[in-house]
Amino acid sequence: MQNIFVTRPSIPEFDKYCEILKDIWETRQLTNMGKYHKIFQAKLIELLNVSNVELFTNGHMALELSLQAFNFPRGAEIITTPFTFASTTHAIVRNNLTPVFCDINSEDYTLDVTKLENLITDRTCAIMPVHVYGNICNVNEINRLAKKYSLKVIYDAAHAFGEKFDGKNIAEFGDVSCFSFHATKVFNSIEGGAACFEDRNLGIKLYQLKNFGISGPESVDGVGANAKMNEFCAAMGLCNLENLGEDIAKRKLIYERYMENLSGVEGLKLNFIQKNLESNYAYFPVIFNEKIFGTSRNEVFAVLENEGILARKYFYPLTSDFKCFHGKFDSSKTPTALRISKRVLTLPFYADLDFEDVDRICKLILSCKK
Ligand SMILES: *Cc1c(COP(=O)(O)O)cnc(C)c1O
Repeated sequence: MQNIFVTRPSIPEFDKYCEILKDIWETRQLTNMGKYHKIFQAKLIELLNVSNVELFTNGHMALELSLQAFNFPRGAEIITTPFTFASTTHAIVRNNLTPVFCDINSEDYTLDVTKLENLITDRTCAIMPVHVYGNICNVNEINRLAKKYSLKVIYDAAHAFGEKFDGKNIAEFGDVSCFSFHATKVFNSIEGGAACFEDRNLGIKLYQLKNFGISGPESVDGVGANAKMNEFCAAMGLCNLENLGEDIAKRKLIYERYMENLSGVEGLKLNFIQKNLESNYAYFPVIFNEKIFGTSRNEVFAVLENEGILARKYFYPLTSDFKCFHGKFDSSKTPTALRISKRVLTLPFYADLDFEDVDRICKLILSCKK
């Protein structure tokens, strides 16, 4: 039997992509903010209801360069979550800034806003929260605290593309919201990313930073990177965008199938869709309470792996426990994040996943209950 991976990228119809490729062949503009870069950008501005969208090679560069664009003093503190993908923390550290880890709440695994204010010092410059699994952070409270202490808010919205909260698009929150269009995400442009924001001046900075800091034919104003989205990725994004609605509708059915199978099982905590959230159904995380369920997360992982079902321990370890940060942070100060990371398993979840496979995965999990 074939392995089932945690995710499987959505792809457009081959012919549809080829049509654009033909055009690219004729014009020979392969990259450097060409025609499809512009069309994709304009489509996203409309779809996401924001004034500015800057496209990048990937979500990580959107985050890293957004932080750089604010020009915070070296060593400034950025309050963030350790319960995330490596990218969030690395974006901070690679900018010579200091991550200050705030705990998460055990309901939706986003920042525990009741613990946030205590972490703010006179060196704090920004908050970098993550809408983890597509669960939306407490945006109102984060906004209130940011206003009170004059902090910037840069959302890692890598998991949240296509979502709406309280009728607003998720891209509208914070000073910047950054998306990832990596192949593994709900929506992909093969590799890609975007930063969304209102401030036009930030747009000028980001445009330069993704192109070596070049500000004119004979002038370079910043120490930039090369993070320009090429035409092939922009074209893929454009094609996949047309299927986004259908993909999310399919994901919803898979979500419901999982819920039918696993709801009410003692010792399992499932991920509920938040009130007022139009979800993109990005992930299906399950928290295993070994004391009640009888079997640990790691044992369930192994049982599934043995059957070719490759679930993932997203997010384990916490980024604050990465070897590259050895001795720098203390994950016991974020006890909820530490506990959840030891218990969470993210199950296979993608638009084309068969119901039969969902049922088989769930049956295996239930067979682990003692
Ligand atoms: C995927 C991801 C990123 C990075 O995106 P890339 O496009 O892979 O660079 C950042 N943060 C989170 C939470 C992610 O899941």
